[in-house]
Amino acid sequence: AVPLVIAKSTALSARNGLLIKNRTDFENARKITTIVFDKTGTLTVGRFEVVRFDSLQQGISKEDLLGMAASLEGSSEHPIATGITGKAKTLGITLPAATNVTAITGKGITGNISGRDVKVVSPGYVAEQFPGAAPTAIQPGETLVYVLVDNQVAGFIALADEIRPESAGAIATLREQQIKTVLLTGDNKIVAESVSKTLGMDRFIAEVLPHEKLDKIKELQQQGEFVAMTGDGINDAPALAQADVGIAIGSGSDVAAETAGIVLVNSNPQDVVNLILFGKATWRKMI
Ligand code: ADP
Ligand code: MG
Repeated sequence: AVPLVIAKSTALSARNGLLIKNRTDFENARKITTIVFDKTGTLTVGRFEVVRFDSLQQGISKEDLLGMAASLEGSSEHPIATGITGKAKTLGITLPAATNVTAITGKGITGNISGRDVKVVSPGYVAEQFPGAAPTAIQPGETLVYVLVDNQVAGFIALADEIRPESAGAIATLREQQIKTVLLTGDNKIVAESVSKTLGMDRFIAEVLPHEKLDKIKELQQQGEFVAMTGDGINDAPALAQADVGIAIGSGSDVAAETAGIVLVNSNPQDVVNLILFGKATWRKMI
């Protein structure tokens, strides 16, 4: 049987944007010392818009470049993919046919277009595969991807996403509660730094692959932190499972919501604060 104080606070939580799926996660909320936040779709809205794009290779026009990228991205559900296909559509660009399209997990996408190997990938991927190729500067706040044609950097596409209006308040309140906040993202260091600084977070960890998100949670736990993870993506699920408290954003993937013990039904990061306050209040009534 569910103790009455918990049943009551669970109902109260529901009215405050919290779906408590796992009671242990709720009971653990009062012990949190560090909260790790995913960036895209969690602290930001998760809607990328193309802000600039250009060809860096003779014989390939700007529009051809975007068209090739959009053709591959038609097979992806990543927010970057949605931004790129949306821009090509807005500009009325005819997309070339692509075959053998496959994801490069946490790094991009690859496929064949007119007998050429085309990739849309992260700056980290380019740095790792083609050291010395220093293509273009990343501006703060930008998520940049490179388009490679036959393993040559053919151009870039820069996208921007918006920070959720509630994120700053959530981070500020957590700071008042002496809870450390960490930004954990697969995106580049420049955008990670600008988002974490804008929000006043304690630290950021960038360019992490999906399986590395889990390792980062474990590391913090080994350092003695009691860790909550907040995320929305399939790539966040292992980290959500590892954390002492797993918190999914309601608008995120089903996999994240299934894995997490708590779901923020209004997709509002500020509700993390309610979770901790309710967790503490419930505990006080129980003892
Ligand atoms: P996160 O959800 O933490 O932002 P991901 O692991 O989904 O990160 O992606 C990390 C990086 O890999 C992206 O910032 C981007 O550079 C690259 N990437 C992933 N998927 C795609 C895609 N479909 N198209 C282009 N780039 C991608
Ligand atoms: Mg995300």
